[in-house]
Amino acid sequence: MAELTFSIIKPDAVANNKVGDILKMVSDAGLTIKATKMIHLTKTQAEGFYAVHSERPFFGELVEYMMSGPCVVSVFEGDNAIKRYRDLMGATNPADAVEGTIRKAFGASIEANACHGSDGPDTAAIEVPYFFSSLELVN
Ligand code: GDP
Repeated sequence: MAELTFSIIKPDAVANNKVGDILKMVSDAGLTIKATKMIHLTKTQAEGFYAVHSERPFFGELVEYMMSGPCVVSVFEGDNAIKRYRDLMGATNPADAVEGTIRKAFGASIEANACHGSDGPDTAAIEVPYFFSSLELVN
């Protein structure tokens, strides 16, 4: 069944000019781009997006990093898109990510790890409308 997932190409990957490489990996993996745009997160937006991590010790650093430069936010579609994109991203820590994944290729550290992807249907259902209106998703 076709599913939507939400993605962020994070500030480090945008600054390193990897947007095209990453979107090509997504397309080559058979996922369809439903929407995409570049944004520069405010503190409030970054804190709101990562609110589930607000009690974690690295929350402040994570928010600062996410507002450190522009991001590319996208919605991808495909059968099992959530798991397929998580698999394509690789492990949170690029040092643990396997060959062929986005984080292995472009992640610099456990924080600056190139990309975000929804971790389940409930999360995707919150994250997609956090950044996109229904009018912005192509049919
Ligand atoms: P993900 O689902 O693979 O992105 O991983 P998590 O949901 O566990 O963490 C969210 C994001 O927080 C990660 O993608 C990293 O950017 C960041 N992060 C995770 N663990 C750490 C850590 O130990 N230190 C720092 N500075 N950032 C972290």
